[in-house]
Amino acid sequence: MSKTDWIQQEIENLQSQGLYNRIRTIESPQGAWLVVDGKRVLNFCSNNYLGLANHPDIVAAAKKAADSMGVGPAAVRSIAGTMTLHVELEKRLAAFKGVEAAITFQSGFTANLATIPALVGKEDMIFSDRLNHASIIDGCRLSGGKIIAYEHNDPASLEEQIKANLSQYRRALIVTDGVFSMDGDIAPLPAIYEVAKKYDILLMVDDAHGEGVLGKGGRGIVDHFGLHGKVDVEVGTMSKAFGVVGGVVAGKSVIVEWLRQRGRPFLFSSAMTVPDAAACLAAIDLLEDSTQLVDKLWSNAKYFKAEMKTLGFNTGVSETPITPIMLGEAPLAQQFSRELFEAGVFAMPLGFPTVPQGKARIRVMISAAHSREDLDQGLEAFGKVGRKLGVIQ
Ligand SMILES: *Cc1c(COP(=O)(O)O)cnc(C)c1O
Repeated sequence: MSKTDWIQQEIENLQSQGLYNRIRTIESPQGAWLVVDGKRVLNFCSNNYLGLANHPDIVAAAKKAADSMGVGPAAVRSIAGTMTLHVELEKRLAAFKGVEAAITFQSGFTANLATIPALVGKEDMIFSDRLNHASIIDGCRLSGGKIIAYEHNDPASLEEQIKANLSQYRRALIVTDGVFSMDGDIAPLPAIYEVAKKYDILLMVDDAHGEGVLGKGGRGIVDHFGLHGKVDVEVGTMSKAFGVVGGVVAGKSVIVEWLRQRGRPFLFSSAMTVPDAAACLAAIDLLEDSTQLVDKLWSNAKYFKAEMKTLGFNTGVSETPITPIMLGEAPLAQQFSRELFEAGVFAMPLGFPTVPQGKARIRVMISAAHSREDLDQGLEAFGKVGRKLGVIQ
């Protein structure tokens, strides 16, 4: 017995349960079509909502910035890593989101790890939606606060939990995903805000899948619901619709200022790179110039979902361009994905622990980069594979 035998055993268990991640390699730029493991396929699974990941203006901005300012920030933000582009990006993000201030991080994941432990500690309580993203869960755990999960998208359950626990904490935080990435449903933020207001509790929303998607011209969930000034903290990412990489926290300036003092990934992990910051600025330019891409994203999503339903697929409860195709057991989802790939469509299966046991699915991510012909081609492949595997008639 070697001391790593147990790992080999665990990996074999994953393989036999259909839960082993087979990681594909993308050999082309991101876009509606990709070269994956040597094959040209229709891309149905990246978060490139607006097609910005390989947009010429954004690529040009990154190149230009690298030519004049180099690449690496060479330090954490609080020592020598805050460059003019970071400051400009934070100003532009704050204006775009309609908030007092914004602070950037290396990713949405680190934005959550920075924010939650800065706002709550051991004597405090966190009310967290049961289906919140892993980075929120990790941020909650890092804070050392008591974590109380409320039922998914259920403000009544949230209020019950608050009432039952009200007397036992010093301070509290309510945290929810804006758009839930596995199902594509939207948090009932106005009702959650009412609860937060009633009990005077800080409210934080992680809008990773809403940034560039929801609201006017992609300004996010707070804009979507007209809740400006009411949500204390908005976490976002520039790795999805923005097509780059990076995280952002937007909200009250006192909170942003506090994160500059106490956000550990800000203090102990290097800043966003120069080309990334420049590329994010170019993405904001595009979003502020026109709502055309966001509009196209939504019309594509509506078309695809309606046609999938007509074919007889169960697309769950999605209200956004995220389109889950519910299949049940993980091995079926894996086989479905393999058959789609053979038919020229790249859509990855998701199983436990990304989604609950028995709720395996293929998640299609619709993008503004898709043409109507692309969507029709994808629908045809889904129909063919679905009939072959007995998922639809
Ligand atoms: C994708 C995602 C993140 C992580 O964002 P990255 O920028 O990729 O690290 C955080 N929260 C939610 C809800 C997400 O969907």
